[in-house]
Formats: sequence, structure tokens, C-alpha cells
Amino acid sequence: MTAIAVVEGDGIGQEVIPVAQDILALLHQEYEFYAVAVGYGKWQKTGTACTTDDISLLRDADAILFGAVTTPPASDYRSVVLQIRKELDLYANLRPIQGEGVDIIVVRENTEGLYSGIEWQEEDRASTLRVITRKGSERIARTACQIARERKNHLTIGNKANVIKSDVFFRDICMDIADEEGVSYTTAFIDSLTLDVLMHPERYDVIVTTNIFGDILSDAAAYLVGGLGMLPSANIGNRHALFEPVHGSAPDIAGQGIANPVAAIRSAAMLLSHIGDTQGAALIDDALHLTAEAGITTPDTGGTASTKEVGDAVCAAVRRLME
Ligand code: ATP
Repeated sequence: MTAIAVVEGDGIGQEVIPVAQDILALLHQEYEFYAVAVGYGKWQKTGTACTTDDISLLRDADAILFGAVTTPPASDYRSVVLQIRKELDLYANLRPIQGEGVDIIVVRENTEGLYSGIEWQEEDRASTLRVITRKGSERIARTACQIARERKNHLTIGNKANVIKSDVFFRDICMDIADEEGVSYTTAFIDSLTLDVLMHPERYDVIVTTNIFGDILSDAAAYLVGGLGMLPSANIGNRHALFEPVHGSAPDIAGQGIANPVAAIRSAAMLLSHIGDTQGAALIDDALHLTAEAGITTPDTGGTASTKEVGDAVCAAVRRLME
């Protein structure tokens, strides 16, 4: 029995994840779905955003479908997303950016760098330690090479090695691994790379980079495909995998029923692919195309449909394609 842990979380996570879950359930009635409550809402009610029991429940799943968690303005609040990534050792964040004339995958290191969580504040100074390890860099480089081999066998290594020593370390390890794996590569400074990706997306295929650079690059690249409501992601480790939209809880539009569910639905498709149903994943992609072609889209991408209307249209398209 395949068990899927479902975390709606906060804000629009509660609106887009049920839509994505319905589509998975339509394709796989045999899956067992169980809810795990974590996030700001839970913190407000209980004082804890994510317990050790919650982590155990997530560990038990074959895969996790995750919405979003709001970060509250409290200094003692530990980021739930960072906690889960660390506890489950989800070291590779894969962010495909796909649309008209764009087919890029950003492979972002997900557990260290500027998100190491090692930070402190003094009276007139605040510091965050950027930790880049050999192990962390090698494994993300291997993941990127593996993906590159299935695509065009070319890697772009995004870095800031002209200024930051830890980036020289990261870049050199990526180059060594790419040599070892027989994958060709170019290196590029992350700032000019971000501009070039926006201006010439057709030049890029697989881009590997460190934690915060990958975060910023992929959010910026969302511009190419209709914004944050469109981008899915996978957080992969050796034992666990979590799938979530790139966007956050979007408190500004939460509760209005207008959140774009496409990123969450695509994340569900990535989940299916990961657990072996590539056909189901392709079917979801086709259903999304048909829905967009029919003009059924939410306001962020120029349409007038609600979250539910897009979800219903995608479900109907999935049903038609299944016949
Ligand atoms: P968080 O603190 O949880 O990261 P945020 O609002 O700072 O939330 P995002 O949730 O990533 O960050 O949202 C950034 C902006 O993009 C928001 O203003 C939101 O309106 C828009 N946005 C994000 N996701 C969607 C979506 N699925 N549909 C429509 N608009 C979205």
C-alpha cells in the first residue's frame, strides 16, 4: 500500500493541496492519504509548529505532499520547512521551470549554505554562517549530473566564486564530479546567470547551485512561465521525498479562493513520477495543458477562474484522458 502524507500547512496551502490530492486520488484510488498538521496555525494553537511525532509521521510516508507554512514574526520560531529538510535529509531541491520555449531544471542544494541555521545576533551585528561541505556539494553535484545525463548531458554551475571562497570550493567540487561522471559543463556567476536565464532561457538546461542562489534564481525564472503559481518542486533525499509548490503561503490572497493550484498539481505529478508512475504524471501534464488551452486559469495568470474551478477542470480532463 502506498502511503502519502499530506501537509496542507497555512494560507493558500489549505486551498491548493486539497485540489492536488483529489487529482492523485482520482488516478490512484488505492493510495492511503493521511493528514499531518504542522505550521504557524498549529504553533498558534499549541505553541509548537512541528513535533517529533509529526516528523515520525512524515518519515513513515512513501512520499509527502506539502503545501506551505507561514513564517511568523517571532524570533524563537524555528522554520518548519528547514526543520523537515534537515530531519529527513532532503538534500536536493529540484525546481523545473517549464513553459513556452523554456525547459530548465534548477538543482538547488537544500540543507546547508546560507540556510545552515547557524546564526547569532550581537548588539550591533547579526551573523549567519554559510556552510558548504564536501559531502553536501558532492551529493548535489551527483544528483545534477544524473539528471543532466537523462537530458542534454550538460550542466551549468551557478556560483559567485569571483568573490566568495566557499563558492570556489563548491564550484570546483561540481566541476570534478561532472568530469568524473562524463557530463559537460559551463560555470557562470549567479548574478549575470540570472539575467541571462531571463533573457535567453533556451541556452539553459540543468543548473546546479547553492541553497539561496537556487532559491532566488528559480523564483526569478518563474517570470518566464507565468509566475510563482506555476512552479512545482521536489525535495529529495536518499530515503524520503517531499513535493511542494515553490510558492509560499501567500497570506495576501489566502481565503479568497483565487490561488493558482497549478504549482501544487504539478508537484503532485512530480510525486507520481518519483514513486514510479511516469504515465500518471504525463497524464496530469496533459490535463493541465488542456485546461490552460480552454482558458480556465486563475487571475494571477490572466484568467477569471477560481482555485476550485481550475481543479474541477483538471479533474474532468484527467477523467477524459483516462477513458
Ligand atoms: P510566505 O511567507 O509563506 O513565503 P509570501 O507571500 O511571502 O509567503 P509567496 O507565498 O511565495 O510568499 O507569495 C509571493 C507572492 O506571489 C504573493 O504576493 C502572492 O500573491 C503570489 N503568489 C504566490 N503563490 C501564488 C499562487 N499559487 N497563486 C496566485 N498568486 C500566488
